[in-house]
Amino acid sequence: MESSVVVMDTNPTTNAINSQTTAANLMERIEEITEEIVSEMSDAISDHSDRYGSQSPKKRLKTEASIGDHSDDKHKHLVMKDKLEHRLGGILCCAVCLDLPKSGIFQFCFIQIKCTNGHLMCAGCFTHLLADARLRDETATCPNCRCVISRDLCSRNLAVEKAVCELPGLCRFCSKELPRVLLDKHQVDYCEERIVRCTFARIGCPWSGPFHESGPHAETCIHPNKSGREVLDVLIGLDKETIEEKKLYDSIFDLLSFEKITFNDLQLKPYRTDEYIHKLYYETSRFTAFNTQWVVKARVNEDQRDPTQSCERQLSYQIVLKSKLTTPMAIHYVILKGPFGDMKLHPRLYKHEFNESSNESPFQVISLHDSHECNKLLAAKAINFRLIMFQMQK
Ligand SMILES: [Zn+2]
Ligand SMILES: [Zn+2]
Ligand SMILES: [Zn+2]
Ligand SMILES: [Zn+2]
Repeated sequence: MESSVVVMDTNPTTNAINSQTTAANLMERIEEITEEIVSEMSDAISDHSDRYGSQSPKKRLKTEASIGDHSDDKHKHLVMKDKLEHRLGGILCCAVCLDLPKSGIFQFCFIQIKCTNGHLMCAGCFTHLLADARLRDETATCPNCRCVISRDLCSRNLAVEKAVCELPGLCRFCSKELPRVLLDKHQVDYCEERIVRCTFARIGCPWSGPFHESGPHAETCIHPNKSGREVLDVLIGLDKETIEEKKLYDSIFDLLSFEKITFNDLQLKPYRTDEYIHKLYYETSRFTAFNTQWVVKARVNEDQRDPTQSCERQLSYQIVLKSKLTTPMAIHYVILKGPFGDMKLHPRLYKHEFNESSNESPFQVISLHDSHECNKLLAAKAINFRLIMFQMQK
């Protein structure tokens, strides 16, 4: 199979001059809008000047704020505040999904990437664009200006990230407006409307509902008064789940007692098939394990014709024996992120018996945390991981 390496990124230097100029442009735009808003506020206040007399603009602003309980003024105040936030949001949002970047749970960072012309993209959309380009064998471009984008050409924009943190966001449970930095914690720990399970869920209560209803529910919940006999079935079910989880660890401990164990830190690199429509696949270079030669191959979405059509992305891999075998070889194997990789995966143990007629294991799914994780790997130049192999002696 003829193959060619896909090289997208070139130079690991970031465009410092560009990032400075666009940051300056952005600050200018923010300043412009702020000035506009302040002048709008002053205009609004001078409309009421007969009521407040002739005060200095600063003092007038203060007065406006302090009489916020006057319904008319309060309304105007809200409209103005909305306008500023709304307009800032419009400027700082991602050019692809038109949303403001979201933070991960308890990670107070809202990563915003910008192209060399200053267009902003959220981290999720940026990796998605890079991953799509990888799948299509195209160069990734900014959706706004079509300039080339890559990890080396684009950079983060800390000013925007900080500005976004200052803008309020809506709680997805109670719709309350909160500073973005507090939003995650509020949604997980404090929101009265967040969905929780019954305190007695572990002994079989299926109830779930808003947090403020969980107290009254627990008072009347019938599950704590059930007999041991009735609770037993639930406990047996829970045990079954734990046993399944424990199996993986037990089998790994068993395998660690094998005589022949080997690990290799490998790198999957992207290649193209030489079919009419070039398809993306990944392959490592050859490596040695148990005195035989191997490679690992990987592909996206079980070789689906066009994975760019689907949002759900998955990587699967196989190990391929490259040496001739005289006696069959039973191999257990597991891949981990290893010291040089950063894939977030749930380790899964697989087994295959290699012999003269079967030198390729079936493709097995790499159990990544989510589709975004898969895009992250596709967007990278190569995928690093560790392969541990155990040879079962007959
Ligand atoms: Zn986006
Ligand atoms: Zn652009
Ligand atoms: Zn809330
Ligand atoms: Zn209950």
